[in-house]
Formats: sequence, C-alpha cells, structure tokens
Amino acid sequence: MHTISGTTTLICLLGHPIAHSVSPRMHNAAFDALGLDYAYLAFDVTPDDLPFALRGLRTFGARGCNLTMPLKKAVIPHLDELSDAARLSGSVNTIVIENGKLIGHTTDGIGYVDALKKEDGFDIPGKTITLLGAGGAAESIITQAALSGAKEIRVFKRKNATFANAAAFAGKIADATGCAISVLPMEDADALRSSIAGSDLLCNATNVGMGDDARTLVPKEFLHKGLFVSDIIYHPAETTLLSDAKNAGCRTANGANMLLYQGAAAFWLWTGHEMPVEAAKQALNG
Ligand code: NAP
Repeated sequence: MHTISGTTTLICLLGHPIAHSVSPRMHNAAFDALGLDYAYLAFDVTPDDLPFALRGLRTFGARGCNLTMPLKKAVIPHLDELSDAARLSGSVNTIVIENGKLIGHTTDGIGYVDALKKEDGFDIPGKTITLLGAGGAAESIITQAALSGAKEIRVFKRKNATFANAAAFAGKIADATGCAISVLPMEDADALRSSIAGSDLLCNATNVGMGDDARTLVPKEFLHKGLFVSDIIYHPAETTLLSDAKNAGCRTANGANMLLYQGAAAFWLWTGHEMPVEAAKQALNG
C-alpha cells in the first residue's frame, strides 16, 4: 500500500454529489500497482465553488482532476485550453494542469470506444450505430464515435423541448467529422425498428433501465443476431435490454468497462503510463 508523503502529488474528482464515486478506488489501486506517488481524492464542489476549487488545485501543484455532474459543462469558461473532442462535445471530464495551465479533455467517449475495442473486439470505424438518448453521455459517445470513423449514427430521443438542441449538436459534429448523424423521435417505433435492423451496434445512453427500473426502450422483436448491444448503465450489471439481447443471440456489454477505460484514458493523460487494467478492475469489483 502506497504511503502518502511530503512529495505525493494530488489528483482529484470534483462534483456534487460525490460520495458514491468509485473513481478514488480505481485510481489509487492503479497508482499503487505501478508505485506512482500520486493520491486521488474526491471533493464535493458545487458550480458556485468551482473557480475557488480550481485555483486551489493550481496552488497545491495538483496534476489535475476529473469532473462529474454538474460541472462537466460549467468548467469550460475556466479553462486555458481544450482538446478537440472536449471543444466539439462541449464537455470536460478531465483536466491536466501543465505549468499552471488548465487543459480540458473529455475521456467518456474514448472510454466507450476503447472498452468495446479492447474488451469485446468491436471496432467502431465503418460501423452504423443506433444510439438511444442525447444527454451528456450520449454527446460524448456521438463525438468520439464520429471522430473514430463511425459510418453513420442514428440518435433516437424523445420529441420534447430539447429535440432541436440535439439536432443542432448532431449537425455540428457531422460537419466537423464527415460522419452522417441524424436525430429521430424515440416515439417513431417504425423508424427505430428499421434503424436497428440496419445497424451493427445498438447503444442505450439513457437512464432507462438504471437501478430498480426494469423498463427497456427496445421491443425484443427489434433485436437481431448480428447486432452488438451495449448499455452504458452498469448498475444493474444486466439491464432488461441486455438480457433481451442475450436471448436474441446478440453480443452484449454493460457500462462497467466504459467507466474503466474513461479512467484509463485520464490516467494516461496525467501520468504518461498505461493504467494497469486488471488492478483497476479488481478495485472496482472489490
Ligand atoms: P443525462 O444527461 O441526464 O441524459 C439522459 C438521457 O436519457 C436524455 O437523453 C433523456 O432523454 C434520456 N431519457 C431519460 N429518461 C427517458 C425515458 N423515460 N425515455 C426516453 N429517454 C429518456 O444523463 P447522462 O449523464 O447522459 O447519463 C445517462 C446514463 O448513462 C445514466 O444511466 C448514467 O448512469 C450512464 N452513464 C454511464 C457512464 C459509464 O461510464 N458507464 C458514464 C456516464 C453516464 P431526453 O433528452 O428526451 O430528456
């Protein structure tokens, strides 16, 4: 077990609420496994307190931080530079502090793409994707999948007050990347059925299915054997969507590895080391 000393460098997680986070367990186990002199702590910080927290991190010589809700967008005006994916997605979940400069990155989308590739052998380039939801996680996935060379992304979202914003976001990413991206109403069952029929990957990036919610947005008969079905929810480990997909003969993945690989991408940005994935997995499951 790593001993914190006078030379230990701080990395942290800022968000509100924060107590439930598993990120400290994952990162501290990875630092220990490689003998790196960092410590990762979580701090409950509201948007109003964010400028003071960032100033503190600079003052303390911290290497950087992760950000979670509700700070991923609120942090952007406080940063000195942004990665391409962070600028495009309008979201930051990782800051690296380089010579006092705050550089914002987003690793949620990279985590999603890397998890599918490294753990399931599923490559995004050239693939057609049906994506459910258009919230923060969905925006990161859309951005990174488009940057990574997806052929087409069809986003299904409820026809409510934020539909036009989602369509504008999709247009911006499509223009920047050349990926064909459309936003369709979730209520159009025929469009959903035909989109899934022509897709390689179906991804649920909504809250539906989380915790005790046993609902699924996809009728079982829409699922087909050649489809890879991923649900970014990791609690429960198997949502109704994933259990229906297994029964239909689909390959499946839940959100646990997305969490792991977004952490691995941040770990690499801070330390320049590959995260020891097995040690991190053990910490997450322990
Ligand atoms: P968010 O920004 O609040 O977005 C939620 C999305 O779900 C919205 O598009 C919303 O639709 C949709 N939605 C909610 N209830 C719905 C319903 N009854 N029918 C249809 N659509 C519905 O949340 P988020 O941060 O993107 O997170 C979404 C999920 O991903 C959560 O379960 C979260 O735990 C999970 N997540 C996992 C990871 C990971 O590492 N595995 C990372 C981030 C998030 P509208 O747009 O129509 O409102």
